[in-house]
Amino acid sequence: MIQSLKQAILDCQNPIISTHKGPDGDAIGSSVGLYHFLKNIGKKPLLILPDEPASFLKPFLTEVDYVVFDSDDSKIQEFTLNSNLLFCLDYNSADRVGSKMEPFIRSFSAAKVMIDHHPNPEPFCDITISRTEVCSTAQLIYQCIGEMEMLEYLNVAIGNAIYLGIMTDTGSFRYPSVDKQTHLILAHLIEIGVKHHEIHEAIYDANTVDRLQLRGYAIAEKLELHPSYPLGVISLSVEEQDRFHYKKGDTEGLVNVILSIEGISVAVFFKEEPDGVKLSFRSKGSYFVNEFAAKYFSGGGHKYAAGGYSSSNLSVTMSRFHTLVGELFK
Ligand code: 5GP
Ligand code: MN
Repeated sequence: MIQSLKQAILDCQNPIISTHKGPDGDAIGSSVGLYHFLKNIGKKPLLILPDEPASFLKPFLTEVDYVVFDSDDSKIQEFTLNSNLLFCLDYNSADRVGSKMEPFIRSFSAAKVMIDHHPNPEPFCDITISRTEVCSTAQLIYQCIGEMEMLEYLNVAIGNAIYLGIMTDTGSFRYPSVDKQTHLILAHLIEIGVKHHEIHEAIYDANTVDRLQLRGYAIAEKLELHPSYPLGVISLSVEEQDRFHYKKGDTEGLVNVILSIEGISVAVFFKEEPDGVKLSFRSKGSYFVNEFAAKYFSGGGHKYAAGGYSSSNLSVTMSRFHTLVGELFK
């Protein structure tokens, strides 16, 4: 598989990189890392995002030729005509780019490459590099570069992006998915000039007062602990988000705060949106959330971190969740 990947990369023209909707640190980190790698070997890549990333991720996109998907965009149309390779990074099924961009991914007529670490990849790509044991797609990008014997093309721009992806998908290197290899890669990135403290600051010291106060409100007023299960939930209505001038990314990480409570093993965050509710699940120990998210909330993800969606309103979604929740603790 790595040999076919290498051949496809050496032969590619105008490669397109895509990642999932609501791009997180690993989506941006893996995409930007691959982008700079392709540039460094003389290619002219374009990154297409399904929607705008949160503002704290934008500093990582400054040197990147990227567009937010729009089927009428003439730049995308023209670029696609001249492209013979599409990368699908950090997602395992074409619907993860959202309904607007999904037809573009499915109908792309030349070769498609998936590089991802989510379980159960859908077979829609010609080359599928799917490794669920790897902590982040960003780490997998590094490993692919290594296995293609092209590490001499690593530079600080690639390294910064890979560091970002590993850091954000591992809760800053703490989840069970982190292994010795992860730390060896991080050491190599620091060796080539990545300033790890700058990346931590860019992500974790970029709070606005509104964001912190929304988080404070959610924890102080909206946290509910279940009377019999080791479960904590928080919900935020659109009205509550508006009160704190919610901006994309402002509730990122809130679900992990619930999981940090002593004795809590499953955390769920319900975020009301104009046409439904986005659910975020986190767990630890012997509790797994991805199958539950897939079965009842048309979502999925990893064992310990998953997401889903409900098109009912917030109170209906929460009652439905509480009716079903026993299944998580069987
Ligand atoms: P988050 O709670 O940060 O939005 O998502 C956590 C993880 O769950 C993501 O890394 C992704 O793997 C997965 N995930 C989130 N939303 C969805 C969804 O709608 N469908 C699927 N299949 N996975 C999701
Ligand atoms: Mn990821």
